[in-house]
Amino acid sequence: MTQWVYSFGAGHNEGRAEMRDLLGGKGANLAEMAAIGLPVPPGFTITTAVCTEFYKNDRRYPEALAGQVRAALARVEQATGRTFGDRHKPLLVSVRSGARVSMPGMMDTVLNLGLNDATVEGLTNASGDARFAWDSYRRFIQMYGSVVLGVDHHRFEEIIEHVKLDEDATEDTALTAQDWHRVVAAYKDMIEEETKKPFPQDPEDQLWGAIGAVFGSWMNPRAITYRRLHDIPAEWGTAVNVQAMVFGNMGNDCATGVCFTRNPSTGENVFYGEFLVNAQGEDVVAGIRTPQPLSEAQAKPGETSMERALPAAYKELLHVRETLEKHYQDMQDIEFTVEKNKLYMLQTRSGKRTAAASLRIAVEMAQDGLIDEKEAVRRVNPASLDQLLHPTLDPKAARQVFAKGLPASPGAAVGAVVFSADEAESRAAKGEAVILVRIETSPEDIHGMHAARGILTTRGGMTSHAAVVARGMGRPCVAGAGGIAVDYGAQTLSAGGRMVRAGETITLDGASGEVFVGAMPMIEPQLSGDFAVLMGWADSHRRLKVRANAETPLDAETARKFGAEGIGLCRTEHMFFDPARIGAVRQMIMAHDEAGRRAALERLLPFQRQDFVALFRIMAGLPVTIRLLDPPLHEFLPHGAQEIAEVASALGQDVAAMERRVAELAEANPMLGHRGCRLGISYPEIYEMQARAIFEGALAVAEETGAAPVPEIMIPLVGTRRELEITRAQIERVAGEVFAAAGRTLTYSIGTMIELPRAALIADAIAESADFFSFGTNDLTQTTFGLSRDDAGKFLPHYVESGILPKDPFVSLDIEGVGALVRMATKKGRRVKPAIKLGICGEHGGDPASIAFCESVGLDYVSCSPYRVPVARLAAAQAALGAKGDRTA
Ligand code: PEP
Ligand code: MG
Repeated sequence: MTQWVYSFGAGHNEGRAEMRDLLGGKGANLAEMAAIGLPVPPGFTITTAVCTEFYKNDRRYPEALAGQVRAALARVEQATGRTFGDRHKPLLVSVRSGARVSMPGMMDTVLNLGLNDATVEGLTNASGDARFAWDSYRRFIQMYGSVVLGVDHHRFEEIIEHVKLDEDATEDTALTAQDWHRVVAAYKDMIEEETKKPFPQDPEDQLWGAIGAVFGSWMNPRAITYRRLHDIPAEWGTAVNVQAMVFGNMGNDCATGVCFTRNPSTGENVFYGEFLVNAQGEDVVAGIRTPQPLSEAQAKPGETSMERALPAAYKELLHVRETLEKHYQDMQDIEFTVEKNKLYMLQTRSGKRTAAASLRIAVEMAQDGLIDEKEAVRRVNPASLDQLLHPTLDPKAARQVFAKGLPASPGAAVGAVVFSADEAESRAAKGEAVILVRIETSPEDIHGMHAARGILTTRGGMTSHAAVVARGMGRPCVAGAGGIAVDYGAQTLSAGGRMVRAGETITLDGASGEVFVGAMPMIEPQLSGDFAVLMGWADSHRRLKVRANAETPLDAETARKFGAEGIGLCRTEHMFFDPARIGAVRQMIMAHDEAGRRAALERLLPFQRQDFVALFRIMAGLPVTIRLLDPPLHEFLPHGAQEIAEVASALGQDVAAMERRVAELAEANPMLGHRGCRLGISYPEIYEMQARAIFEGALAVAEETGAAPVPEIMIPLVGTRRELEITRAQIERVAGEVFAAAGRTLTYSIGTMIELPRAALIADAIAESADFFSFGTNDLTQTTFGLSRDDAGKFLPHYVESGILPKDPFVSLDIEGVGALVRMATKKGRRVKPAIKLGICGEHGGDPASIAFCESVGLDYVSCSPYRVPVARLAAAQAALGAKGDRTA
């Protein structure tokens, strides 16, 4: 026969912590605590399997359940010497839900169940305190009435208010047993009026009502929404815990409290928590009375610690703290009650903590031998490291949100609103902190984005230009805040009826996507010793190398500071936007023939060479993957009549000619247009110049430093083998020329991005001509889905919210589809060329779930924006160690 009910406490423990799936988190841990000898009031857990059966069978319980509940209840009666429904010595129980993972939205708790008009007298006699007994009864009716019977809680509050007014009392404590008696009578009348039935007097009915309410709450809309947002399957079900009541509100030798075995904000190894004398759990939650600290050390003047008020129970609690940490080998979040100086444990679970605390706890526990290094590495959520690398909003600050967008790049920034990149640059040059606000950004805004403290856009998704560039620079960014209207003409932004003008101060929280008016308080990042220690452990356990996507010297330096082992993607087009070069770039685009283009490229060559010299110097012998020009040329030309006129006059060009060229280059779908290697094939002189700059720069640095750079030249948007062969031959020819002229050579390699489905499909053929593949999963996602990364923001959030897609595929790799292409190309490439080097340089290279996938297919490295390098190092170590699901930070 199936066991539907598991007992715990009083020496009869049928469950264990490992049985979380069946017993829920609360039930499994109550059984575990009881089994290791901690004081747990006896009770039993109705399994999650009952919940599943209940919904499978049209809300009917398994037949054997009633008998098993009765038997388990009898055991509790025996253990406590009290009887359910007995008018002299009544057993009272709590009924609480408990799913596998803690789940807001579900019915939480009914306390004091078993009280009725008769047993309240028994409780009066047993406790010798009529006021306590009647207060307990009214609390029960109130909780049961609202959570089980669905009566609005205001109805209860109104009644209490009336009684208080009659009494002219101001505090609950001023009410007498008689008052509570009257409240109970009024509650019962009100409930009968509301539900058309008298309040249930039979404790068995009460119990089954509460059990039914817990199971029913599994399917309430709030719980369903929560499950959807957190990927919790409905089949998991919830358990129900029924437990003998202990009372923290029977006098001043009673208390209730919640605590963490270490400080959950800092991770410091101190006991941390609060308690209330003479109170029941709900009082702590309700926040009507101010809880007091646990230890004397925590107590401020005027506060009475538990250590002082209840020394014996406190001592026992300290012992419990130690036992629990040793046993669970993790920081615990616990709930307890003290009844007449005797301590009882009501809950323990792994405690939620900040990123900083998570790091410190993992490191200190490993250093103290409680866990090993590998386990410490597994314990820290890589994504949470982001919080540690940027200034963040002070969590204590009150938040009044002006608008919300996507959390595109973490960190917080405060500054004055500016609407143009030029203004951002000029004001920042004067030392002002500015926030660049744009409808969307383009490569022409880079200088302003760099100068700004933060970037806010009202259009675009997580891989929009603003988001990608901001992450690369480590600038906080909120992107796609569609609720904000930007008026460039009026120099204002407005949302929700509030208007902010240029020059006014705003704050961005790039970690939450929130925007605030005014300056919010911030806290600076602290890369403490713990950070370095944990990263060291991570490095010793990972297989994947971690590189950075970087093109400026600053980015490259940041990347190295964060431990990058090379550059996996240098997007050379970013170098073309520099004000010193853009003129030559435009001149090249405007040229009528090859000779004209070559003349313009001749002007660019020294700049490019310097770019590469700077990168090679910083990377000091580490590999540097340089991608040749990728974007369509129109991106470099001005748009709009006024801008065209200005640029034309600056270049000494005819306005009409420039307008014509802009029109010629316009494309209906530039992402699939004249870009990538298609440009290099149409205008070989462009790639030739870039290759020359790379080789000359590399030779110069080799001579200067003695450490030969390792250039890896990468061709973008290859879809056929021929494209790669043609461009490869051009580069090799240039290499030959440069080496001949210098009388020296250098090791280099030539590879391709795999960012078109066709390239993945014929990766074996392509591998014949490639020394390496780098998966450009931004474009590969866009082309596999047929989904423009710049337009996805219009509907993708809805897709994710409604579960059509599990995650934004531009953030976390679509393993099923895009991943299949990556896997296939990896196999095909290795079959032809076993030593081919394989990496990824799309945004996914910094996403932990995608990194786990890269480990599973055996890529050689991941490459991500500099600020995500530590995230990737840790995620790669976890992927190598085999992930463990239960992360708390
Ligand atoms: C990619 O497509 O994944 C990539 C890295 O290149 P970009 O984002 O510059 O197109
Ligand atoms: Mg690409």
